[in-house]
Amino acid sequence: MKKSVGKTAKAIIAAVIVIAIIGTVFTYRLYSREFSSSFTAMDTYITLKAKGVGCKDTLDEVENFVKDYSDNVLSRHIETSEVSKINANGGGTFSSGISDYFDLLLEISRESDGAFDFTLGALSDLWGIGTENAKIPTDKEIKSVLFCSGVDKIFYKNGKISIPEGMSIDFGAAGKGMALDEIKTKYLEKSKISRAVFSLGGSILLYSTKENDTFTVGIRNPDESNDYMAVLTVNEGCVSTSGSYERYFEEDGVRYHHIFDPKTGYPAQSGLVSVTIYSESGTVSDALSTACFVLGAEKGAALAKKYNCEAVFIDTEGFVTVTDGLKDKIEITNDNYTLR
Ligand code: FAD
Ligand code: MG
Repeated sequence: MKKSVGKTAKAIIAAVIVIAIIGTVFTYRLYSREFSSSFTAMDTYITLKAKGVGCKDTLDEVENFVKDYSDNVLSRHIETSEVSKINANGGGTFSSGISDYFDLLLEISRESDGAFDFTLGALSDLWGIGTENAKIPTDKEIKSVLFCSGVDKIFYKNGKISIPEGMSIDFGAAGKGMALDEIKTKYLEKSKISRAVFSLGGSILLYSTKENDTFTVGIRNPDESNDYMAVLTVNEGCVSTSGSYERYFEEDGVRYHHIFDPKTGYPAQSGLVSVTIYSESGTVSDALSTACFVLGAEKGAALAKKYNCEAVFIDTEGFVTVTDGLKDKIEITNDNYTLR
C-alpha cells in the first residue's frame, strides 16, 4: 500500500513539473517572442516588428489603429473620412488625431517658405501621378488650382478650420509620420514592448527602452526598387525618405514625379532624387523629407538644423551630402554613389 502511494506521489510530482515546464515555455512563446506582421494601408506596404511582453496583442492593436486612422481620419481618398468631409464642406472641426499636429504642420509650412504645403490635393489630382490618368496639365489648369491652394488661405482657430472652395487638404506628405507619433505615445509607451521597428512606406519608427540602443536602416537606392545604397546606424527616432522614384511617369525623356513645388505647380526640380530625414518626431521627419526635397540640399540642410534633425541628400549625379550628425553614422554600400 505504502509503495503504491509513493509511486502515485512521484507520478503527480513528475506531471506537475512537466506541466510547469510546458506552461513556462508556452507563456514565454506567447509573451516574450519577437513578433512581426505586415499589411497594406495608406496605399503603401506596412511592416511591424516588435519584441517584448504582450507584443502580439500590441501589434494587432497598432494594425487596427493604422487602418482606422487612415480610413476614418486622414485619407482624402475615402469619402467618409474626416479630411474628405472637410474638403467637401469647405471646413469643419478637427478631432485630436489632426488638431494635435496641425499647428506644427502650419509652422513647418511657414518655416519652409511654403515648400511643405498640405493643400495641394487638387494639384495632385490634376497631374494624376501614380494613376492611369497621369498627364501634363496646361499652364492654365495649373494656375487655376494653385489659385485655390496655399496654407495662407486657410482660416484656423481652436480646432476649427475653414478652407476656400476648390482647396483640397492632403496629408499624403505627413500622415505616415503623424501615425508613427500616435503609435509611439498611445501604444508603445503604454506597452511592455522593449524594442520595435515599424515601417509605414517611406517612414520608419525605431523604438527601444534601452538607452543608446542602435538600429541599422537602409536608404533605398533611387535607381533600384529592391536595393539599398547606404546604411545608417542610429539610435531610436524616426527616419523618413521622400524620392522622385516613388511615383512618376515619363514623357519625352522627362520624369514627372509626385513631389510638387508649390510655387510652380510642377514636380520639384531641386537637383535631388531623394532626401532622408532623421528626427525624434515622425511628423517632423515625414513633413521635412518632402519640404527638403523641394528646397534642395542647401536650404534643406538649414531647415533640418532648425528642427534639430539630420539629413541625407542624394542628387541626380549620385553625390550624397550628409549633415554633421550623420557623418560617422552612414556607410555607402553602392559604388554608384559618392559621399561628398
Ligand atoms: P512624401 O514626400 O512624404 O509625400 C508626397 C505626397 O505629398 C504626394 O504624393 C502628394 O500627395 C503630397 N505632396 C506633393 N508635393 C507636396 C508638397 N510640396 N508639400 C506637401 N505635400 C506634397 N495614395 C493613393 O494613391 N491612394 C490612397 O488611397 C491613399 N491613401 C492614403 C492615406 C493616407 C492616410 C496617407 C498618409 C497617404 C495615402 N496615399 C494614398 C498616398 C501615399 O501613401 C503616399 O503618400 C504617396 O505615395 C507619397 O508618399 P511618399 O512618402 O512617397 O512621399
Ligand atoms: Mg513626407
